[in-house]
Amino acid sequence: MTNRQANVVSGLQLWQWRIKANQAAIAHNIPIVEVDWLLQEIAGLDRLALRLESFKDCSEVPMGLSLDKLDQLWQRRLGDRLPVQYIAGVTPWRNFRLTVSSAVLIPRPETECLIDLAVAAVANSESALQLQQGHWVDLGTGSGAIALGLADAFPEATIHAVDCSLEALAIAQQNAQNTGLVDRMRFYQGRWWEPLTLLKGQFSGMVSNPPYIPSDIVPTLQPEVVNHEPHLALDGGADGLDAIRHLIEVAPSYLRPEGIWLIEMMAGQAEAVQALLLQQGSYSNIQIHSDLAGIERFALAEIARGMV
Ligand code: GLN
Repeated sequence: MTNRQANVVSGLQLWQWRIKANQAAIAHNIPIVEVDWLLQEIAGLDRLALRLESFKDCSEVPMGLSLDKLDQLWQRRLGDRLPVQYIAGVTPWRNFRLTVSSAVLIPRPETECLIDLAVAAVANSESALQLQQGHWVDLGTGSGAIALGLADAFPEATIHAVDCSLEALAIAQQNAQNTGLVDRMRFYQGRWWEPLTLLKGQFSGMVSNPPYIPSDIVPTLQPEVVNHEPHLALDGGADGLDAIRHLIEVAPSYLRPEGIWLIEMMAGQAEAVQALLLQQGSYSNIQIHSDLAGIERFALAEIARGMV
């Protein structure tokens, strides 16, 4: 949060606000930990100070927002189910603290696994040395989370990040600036591979968390998701697979032999995605991986040698 000094409250006022917020969280069935998480982000308090309530005796606590504004946003958490990450404007993801707004999907903990899967796929490849260098792409980058994870994991690679939303790209670029990885990253507005035609056949890997929710399921998601997160990042068409089908079809002309193809998908889609990859004919070593909840969540493949 910027400009914390501009909004100062007394520890006692904040202590009183916290008590009311905790009670309201319980009454509205919102995890109570969200209150302290907000206070850590917005008032810079640490967990110990919150636990011992030692901040109560501070005469001044500098905040990133005025107490009125914080309370207004908290009322939207309760009433409109506004996600707490959009209130704080940040979310933790892997080793990053990422800026988020309602222009981007809040990066999910399970998506963190994509980076570990990419690293393992490279390590297991006969072309490991070449793959850890060269060009990687995050298609539909949103907040830039996956692109940043790749930049961090592959220090010799150049990371390309594509999104069709200019608003999302602005957030991704800001996150890249904040993490100091921006020098090895490139940003493009466009549809999937389209802005990258000059690099056809050269990519070491593609990673994507595309929209994959079937259109008729989108309205049934939690209100936090359906009322506040961008549908562009969620709605995958009639069966949820529109974007994934496109990525399967087009990627072989952009990836190098043995290049890595890796996506996140929804529970229940693994079989269909595996069949589509097989049917396309250019992929080998097709694998499905589960997330930490045991849900088949990721599909991984490589471009078969001699197929491109
Ligand atoms: N995992 C997200 C959710 O829980 C969906 C992300 C996506 O469609 N790529 O809503």
